[in-house]
Amino acid sequence: MTHEFVHLAFPDMPPQHHWIEEGLATYVEPIARVQAGQLKSARIWRDMIRDMPKGEPEAGDRGLDNTHTWARTYWGGALFCLRADIAIRQSTSNRMGLQDALRAIVAKGGTLDKENWFMEGVLKVGDEATGTKVLEQLYGEMKDKPLQVDLANIWAQLGVAADRRKMVFDDRAQLADIRRGITRSPARETQMASRFTTEEYDQKESADESKVP
Ligand SMILES: [Zn+2]
Repeated sequence: MTHEFVHLAFPDMPPQHHWIEEGLATYVEPIARVQAGQLKSARIWRDMIRDMPKGEPEAGDRGLDNTHTWARTYWGGALFCLRADIAIRQSTSNRMGLQDALRAIVAKGGTLDKENWFMEGVLKVGDEATGTKVLEQLYGEMKDKPLQVDLANIWAQLGVAADRRKMVFDDRAQLADIRRGITRSPARETQMASRFTTEEYDQKESADESKVP
């Protein structure tokens, strides 16, 4: 249900860009559920480590706009979103992420009942909101070429590793703050602020992260 609701918050794109709609819904759904307190972040990082490789290009791939397999549409799109979220956070000292770009697109009226939005136009609205060119650049890299993403390196930089049933988080990893930023919920933090100091809150979030349900 969460996946379907995410679709409402993005314009209806032509068939060659179907991957951005399904990729967003696939990527945003678990993160939104962590932010709403329904899932632990350990669970969704474990799932991403398991599922993201499905989105890598196979032999004969011609980029996201031209390869309409299930795996490239859903998980190839999700890979685009993961890269975008990390890159926006790297460019903004972790103050903004993909969520900020998506909210700006909705604020400009970019919802599922709109059919006349161009891909470049949608991405530009998102980029303007974060003051970056991340979405437009990544689209240029992935739209018509079989770009291989170095997922092992991404997990190492974020400090996440799946060890059979247990998740291991490395808080000294280069992008550990970005990993926490991705699932952080400003609304939930405000709620918690009345009960914990900021330091106590961060400790609690770290402790929550390592528990796999
Ligand atoms: Zn869908």
